[in-house]
Amino acid sequence: MIIQPKTRGFICTTAHPVGCARQVRRQVEYAKARPAVRGPKKALVVGASTGYGLASRIVAAFAAGADTIGVYFDKAAEGSRTATAGWYNSAAFEQAANEAGRKSFSIVGDAFSDEIKAKTIDLIKTEFGQVDLVVYSVASPRRTHPRTGETFSSVIKPIGPAYSNKTVNFHTGEVSVATIEPATEDEVRQTIAVMGGEDWQMWIDALLEAGVLSEGATTVAYSYIGPEITHAVYREGTIGRAKDDLEATALRLKEKLSPIGGRAFVSVNKAVVTQSSSAIPVVPLYISALYKVMKEKGIHEGCIEQMYRLFADRLYAPGETPVDDKGRIRLDDREMLADVQKEVDRIWTELSTDNINELSDIAGYRREFFQLFGFETDGVDYEADVDPAVDIPNLR
Ligand code: NAD
Repeated sequence: MIIQPKTRGFICTTAHPVGCARQVRRQVEYAKARPAVRGPKKALVVGASTGYGLASRIVAAFAAGADTIGVYFDKAAEGSRTATAGWYNSAAFEQAANEAGRKSFSIVGDAFSDEIKAKTIDLIKTEFGQVDLVVYSVASPRRTHPRTGETFSSVIKPIGPAYSNKTVNFHTGEVSVATIEPATEDEVRQTIAVMGGEDWQMWIDALLEAGVLSEGATTVAYSYIGPEITHAVYREGTIGRAKDDLEATALRLKEKLSPIGGRAFVSVNKAVVTQSSSAIPVVPLYISALYKVMKEKGIHEGCIEQMYRLFADRLYAPGETPVDDKGRIRLDDREMLADVQKEVDRIWTELSTDNINELSDIAGYRREFFQLFGFETDGVDYEADVDPAVDIPNLR
């Protein structure tokens, strides 16, 4: 069939298998072309099919030469419905790993469940024995607690007063003012339950108990801080509370891993276009302004560049991993440079529907958004008939 993008707000309900495969190949080529990393040998990536998790898996496999297991929640094609982008990405990843002679396996299912954790542990035991890296990169709107059965929903809302700021409909370029009402206490609780550290800790507890973490194993999860402009809706809002919890969990996990000489980190990554970040009000407009400034300064990075730097210059750099005063790895160092933020602030005050194309990289934002789903990718014939049914090699 001929697959075209179909969008509903910040969601694209179709994905293109050939375009997704190209995007993955581009990231694989990037990782292969960089100096090799003396990094993990056997890695588990939870949330491995898109965004930062996919890029982490690619760097582990193709810059460090690791065997990998990816856990993710994606859907296969069904009838005339395409698979999700993460499904096609993972099929392409597994194929590239096979070609390169790396062992690699995929587990599709709910990472929050006991069942998927047990299945992953069995797979580690039979295929790898142990893993020496666990990347936790799940971003989800919902989580069902494996013990209580309660289903939590995460919301992106301020805490305290209502918050108003500029936002953009990135499809049309229309800039408007969004007002977001504050979260209730229960919404804060639920957001922490979805995006905080509890599930990461449950993974590490289960892996430790099963004896499948090797001596000196490392675990890392991802956080975000961002600029003043987004603080009320992000870092000081519901999601920020969840990130506080995630960061506190890293400190607890460090203790738990000390008997095996292991390490636990949160890495504060920069803002990039992913399915998750496109759902946050205000943030896409901020990213459009940020991309404009960072591209002009020649310091722009996407997921793969960030994750390569995480492995090569932080986690597996010779000596101690550099961290900030709260023990966090900072990969947002370039985003937060004073001259970058000053320029973004200047743009921000002036931004409107009339000047968005000149002042921001909204065109780049839109293109990257569609590329997340395999569209707008060079070298792909979008008029060609393609089979949406793609098998994932090594699916368990
Ligand atoms: P993403 O939406 O691209 O990826 C989320 C991944 O989680 C996908 O692989 C998806 O399949 C998986 N997932 C979701 N629910 C799942 C479930 N129940 N079971 C198994 N897998 C599940 O998101 P992303 O932007 O790469 O976010 C990953 C992490 O990075 C998050 O913690 C996010 O807060 C953080 N981060 C993102 C940004 C950004 O700008 N995008 C910046 C800094 C930090």
